[in-house]
Amino acid sequence: MKTEDEWQHCLTPEQYDILRKKGTEAPFTGKLLHNKEKGKYICAACGMELFSSEAKFDSGTGWPSFFDANKENIATKRDLNHGMIRTEVLCKHCSSHLGHVFEDGPNPTGLRYCINSASLDFRK
Ligand SMILES: [Zn+2]
Repeated sequence: MKTEDEWQHCLTPEQYDILRKKGTEAPFTGKLLHNKEKGKYICAACGMELFSSEAKFDSGTGWPSFFDANKENIATKRDLNHGMIRTEVLCKHCSSHLGHVFEDGPNPTGLRYCINSASLDFRK
């Protein structure tokens, strides 16, 4: 596992801010928002497989959204910041911040994983 110093060196400033400092990218700016290719979405920090293109949908929020996740590779945590009760989604392997999960998603799960593009890489 890397130290915060090492993360700072191997990630872009934007990725570092989001993944390690729990930042959020501006909506409708992410590189993967409109990606419709078939493949896997992996953790931008450590390469763990997190989401599949099969679970991606257009939520209209401006962030890549998924109704399902590769649950063995993600962790969730209650997040009380910004005056809201939300559930934070983290990479289980490297504890990087990915985004949040909400219970207003489509069938079959009813979940909406709202994830920063900068937290993900795409592999065809
Ligand atoms: Zn990771």
